[in-house]
Parts: sequence; C-alpha cells; structure tokens
Amino acid sequence: MAVKRILTIDNTADLAILKQVSTPVAAVDDDVRALMDDMLETMYDAPGIGLAAVQIGDLRRVVVMDLGDAPAAEGEDDEPASEEEAARRANPRFFVNPEVLWASDELYTYEEGCLSIPEYFDAVERPARVRVAYLNREGERVEEEISGLYAVCFQHELDHLNGVLFIDHLSRLRRDRAAAKVKKVMRSREAA
Ligand code: ZN
Repeated sequence: MAVKRILTIDNTADLAILKQVSTPVAAVDDDVRALMDDMLETMYDAPGIGLAAVQIGDLRRVVVMDLGDAPAAEGEDDEPASEEEAARRANPRFFVNPEVLWASDELYTYEEGCLSIPEYFDAVERPARVRVAYLNREGERVEEEISGLYAVCFQHELDHLNGVLFIDHLSRLRRDRAAAKVKKVMRSREAA
C-alpha cells in the first residue's frame, strides 16, 4: 500500500484530469484491489471520508469510503468516546462501477468538502435517498437504498467519476471563491 498525491484544483494539469470521465472496470481483480488499498491509505492519511480513483490520477470507476459508522459495541454510545473506540468504528467501503438507479424527490442539504478542494466547504443540495448499485471488493453486485451522509458521499464520489466536482453545483461566484481559497491554502502548504 502507498500514500499517493491527491490532485487539487489549483493545479491546471490536475484539474484537467479531475474533469475527465472515468472508465468502467471490467473485473474486480487483485490489480483493482491494490488500487483500492492505495486509495484507502491515501484517504486515511489526508484524512478524508471518501476518495475517487481519479483524485489520485487513475481513471477507473473505483471509490473508497469510510464514514466510521461500524455498529457500536454493547454499552457504547453512538458517538465514540475515545480514539480506540473510533478506530473500532472504522468501516471501509469499496465501490466499483457505482450507479444511482433511483433518486428521491426529497432533497437534503449538507456542507460538503473535498480532498481535491482543500479547506473549502459549502452547502450542496442533493436527493435525500438514492437506490444504488455497485460491485463490492469481491466483485459481487450490491443493490441498496441509502440516505444521510452515506447518500451524500456516494453521490459526491460518483460525480467525481463523471468529471464533476461539488463546486460545480454552486454559483459562479462561489466557485470562484473556492478556487481562490484553494490557491491560498496550497501556497501556504508549500511554504510550510
Ligand atoms: Zn471530492
């Protein structure tokens, strides 16, 4: 496993890749699982809760996610009380060729962020519930209806595979504000 560099929108070459449409995966084999492992390690290192392969420059339709939402053990609250407990809640998820089969009319607004748009957050409105399909890490087809943060993250990552960033859902003014913020953040990271 290896931590890869995450592409960011302030870099013109990176942005050109982030705008590309990723290609379906023919089979979930060891090569795809190795990509998933690199993506997961990169995401945990960042840290973030979701990552699409295109964000590390690989144009395959692969997504990893960890919302830290593994079921609580007996006697534990929903909110982890310690770092060890939080680590036990780790719940890595893997998606190949994800798709949305149905979306609710009801919408849900969430303050989204993105590892390719560091330190910029803004409210995005998306369908509150979606019925989705994908291949899991073993290559089995899964269909499920999801909601809440899981649904937000799934739709955000699926957008990435179609060359769409969350700021593309915002007004021109807010997109420009995001670009300016990211430039500033990346300059200060380079100076550090
Ligand atoms: Zn993102």
